[in-house]
Amino acid sequence: MADRDAKLVIVGSGPAGYTAAIYAARADLKPILVSGPQPGGQLTITSEVENFPGFPDGILGPELMELFRRQAERFGTEFVEGLVTSVDFGRRPFLLQIDEGRESIRAEAVILATGASAKWLGVPGEKEHWGKGVSACATCDGFFYRDQEVVVIGGGDSAMEEATFLTKFASRVTVIHRRDTLRASKIMQDKARSNPKISFLWNSVVKEILGDETGVTGVRVKNLVSGGEAVVKCTGVFVAIGHEPNTKIFRGQLDMDESGYIRVVPGTTRTSVPGVFACGDVMDPVYRQAITAAGTGCMAALDAERYLERG
Ligand code: NAP
Repeated sequence: MADRDAKLVIVGSGPAGYTAAIYAARADLKPILVSGPQPGGQLTITSEVENFPGFPDGILGPELMELFRRQAERFGTEFVEGLVTSVDFGRRPFLLQIDEGRESIRAEAVILATGASAKWLGVPGEKEHWGKGVSACATCDGFFYRDQEVVVIGGGDSAMEEATFLTKFASRVTVIHRRDTLRASKIMQDKARSNPKISFLWNSVVKEILGDETGVTGVRVKNLVSGGEAVVKCTGVFVAIGHEPNTKIFRGQLDMDESGYIRVVPGTTRTSVPGVFACGDVMDPVYRQAITAAGTGCMAALDAERYLERG
C-alpha cells in the first residue's frame, strides 16, 4: 500500500474539481486530484455545450472537460486515476483511501467536488439514447428541440421547471407523472398548469424509450390505473426525477442537508470540518451548472489556500 502526503487533495474531476485544481496549482499548493468513477464528470456524457462562456460556437462536453484537464495539468496538478473509497476527517492530517486501500494519501486540506448524479428511470432505450434524445438538463439541451414534441418525466419542482423552460423551444411538452398529484410547490405547479403548451399524463410510467438511428421517436407509457399502454410520440425525453449528491462516503463526518448535499458556510466553501471544502453540485442543489460549479471550484481553492497559509 503506497502511502504519501499532500498539502491538498481534490476529489472529483468535473468543472468544480478541475477549476479548484487550476487555482490551487497556480498557488503552488501542488494539488493531487483524484478523478473518480467518471473522469470529467457529467459533461462527458453531454453532447454540445452552448452556454459555457468563451465558446460562442459551442463545444462538445468531453472536449470542454479535456481543456479543463489540460489547464490543470499545465500548472502542475498531479492526477490519480481511481475512486476515493473512504475518508477520515476526524484525524489530522486527513486520510483518504483510494480503491479500497490500493493507495492512501494524508492531506492537510481536502476539496470535495464529487458532484451529483441524475437519477435515471432504468428502462430499455434510456442508456442507448442518452445524450441523443434523452437528457436530464433542459437548460443544457432544450435549445435543440425547437418546434418539436418532448416529454418530461417527474412531478417535482425540477419537472415543472424543465417543462416550463422547454416551452420556449418545443411545440408541445407532455409531463408524465406516476401519480395524479404533483409534488412540486404550488407556484411552480400553477406556472406549468397555466402554460398552454404543457399537458399532463397522470398515473403513468414510462416503460420504454423508443427510437431508431435518427434518435428518439417516442415513449411507451403504462397507465397504472387502467393497466393500458400507449405510445407518446416525441423526439426528446427529459428525465426530472431528482438528483443524488455523491456524498455516501462522507456521511457522518460532515454536516449535510436532508437530501445529502454538503452544507457550507453561506458565501464560502467551508464545510463543518475546518480544512475540508466543498464545491460544485455536491453542495449546490439549486443552480447545478458547469459555470457555477467552476465558480465555486475557484472559491474552494482560494478558501483552501487561506486555510493552509494560516497553518
Ligand atoms: P423531487 O422533489 O424529489 O421530485 C422527484 C419527482 O420525480 C417526484 O414527483 C417523484 O414522484 C418522481 N419520481 C421519482 N422517482 C421516480 C421514478 N423512478 N419514476 C417516475 N417518477 C419518479 O426532485 P426535484 O424535483 O429534482 O427537486 C429536488 C429539490 O430541489 C426539491 O426540494 C425541490 O423543491 C428543489 N428544486 C427547487 C426548484 C426551484 O425552486 N426553482 C427547482 C428545482 C428543484 P412522486 O411525487 O410520486 O414521489
